Amino acid sequence: MRRTRNAKIVATLGPASSDAAVVRQLFMAGVDVFRLNFSHGTHADHAERFKTLRALEQETGRPIGILADLQGPKLRVGTFAEGPVMLEAGQAFRLDLDKAPGNAQRAGLPHPEIFAALVPGAELLLDDGKLRLVVERCGKDFAETRVAVGGKLSERKGVNVPGVVLPITALTEKDRRDLALALELGADWIALSFVQRPEDVTEARALIGERAAIVVKLEKPSAVERLDEIVAVTDAVMVARGDLGVELPAERVPAIQKRIVRTCRALGKPVIVATQMLESMIDSPVPTRAEASDVATAIYDGADAVMLSAESASGKHPVVAVDMMNRIIEQVEADPAYRQLIDASHTSARPSGDVAEAVCCAMRRAVVLLHAQAIVCYTMSGHSSLRAARERPESPILSLTPKLATARRLVLVWGVHSVHIADVADVDEMTALACDIARRERFAEAGRFIVAIAGLPFGSPGTTNLIRIATA
Ligand code: PGA
Ligand code: MN
Repeated sequence: MRRTRNAKIVATLGPASSDAAVVRQLFMAGVDVFRLNFSHGTHADHAERFKTLRALEQETGRPIGILADLQGPKLRVGTFAEGPVMLEAGQAFRLDLDKAPGNAQRAGLPHPEIFAALVPGAELLLDDGKLRLVVERCGKDFAETRVAVGGKLSERKGVNVPGVVLPITALTEKDRRDLALALELGADWIALSFVQRPEDVTEARALIGERAAIVVKLEKPSAVERLDEIVAVTDAVMVARGDLGVELPAERVPAIQKRIVRTCRALGKPVIVATQMLESMIDSPVPTRAEASDVATAIYDGADAVMLSAESASGKHPVVAVDMMNRIIEQVEADPAYRQLIDASHTSARPSGDVAEAVCCAMRRAVVLLHAQAIVCYTMSGHSSLRAARERPESPILSLTPKLATARRLVLVWGVHSVHIADVADVDEMTALACDIARRERFAEAGRFIVAIAGLPFGSPGTTNLIRIATA
């Protein structure tokens, strides 16, 4: 079973999409990686979804990626004594550590770290940025603010503090419990929310080790400011446009999205474009033309994956939304302008003495010169396949690995058809198996060229040093 596109689809499971029959339909319609959102649902819900996905994997014989998305330090206001309050522009409003229920003059904000970091003039955004407060005076347990944009505020609404780097780690107590469960169940990717600095990633890596790969969600301006450093230490990135568009004005999101995709492509790290991609399909069976165009833009930019959130988790048409995304991707990739744009935005490697770099450049050229029908990567850590995908080559990448965890992770990556195989002894055996699988999975016709890359000796990660041209 193979997909006929390069870009991948990530879809979130939720109440609308948790029984096995729907999950199966989502997979058949095109989902490559399933996202479990730990902001919602119980541990029992997530464990059940894991079971369903692994059973589906068994049934279809295709590796499936599971991404566990941790909530992160989502900040919230406290409760109100008499239901929601109306804040008027210009009025004073106080936030403090007092646990007493709030009213139209004050509310609790149970996060001492916020008060520690606030300064007069700082802005607080409430309820996805709908309300805006400006700090006038503050101390270690309170802030007196002026309402700049008013509106209705109800209890437990989210608080964003865009301009300030908060002295909090990216992993709360809840995240640590959720992480333990996700690792125990065998998540392939762990997504970290509200990352502020590269240290947040290294701290999470120390807990996770080799058990899963890390996706950094870019949703804080402070993280965007240190983009290169963060991309360097993570395994993948998500352009989390929901919170990003709260913390920054919406008009700044498109350019930042493109910059993130460019940076990730240059460094060979998978990048997912997420949030509101087909938002109107939560209710409607067809997207707006603007949404179709938004998905297309991410594909023309060469993103590895596009993502569905509420559309597949709690919307009325989860399978139709996946099918639509699949069709948009196929249409874009069939457009002759697609290849031109992908090539034009490719950053070629600079002379660096890096052997893998040289092998992959040779591979990219050989594919064109020989009209090779497939690229075969034999990989343990996944490095060779990632490096091949960085080239955004013209033929599909058949990625072979004896490590199931690697096979599952690589499902997220642009152009990669990931296959879990039994171990091979030497280059001849690898080449024979590669030709065999390329024919069997209909990547190459007998007699046509395939280009294989691998690292010798087998099993030493990060040593892509072999290129071999064979006929299928
Ligand atoms: P979320 O992250 O859905 O977990 O908030 C994505 C985003 O903020 O865009
Ligand atoms: Mn978010």
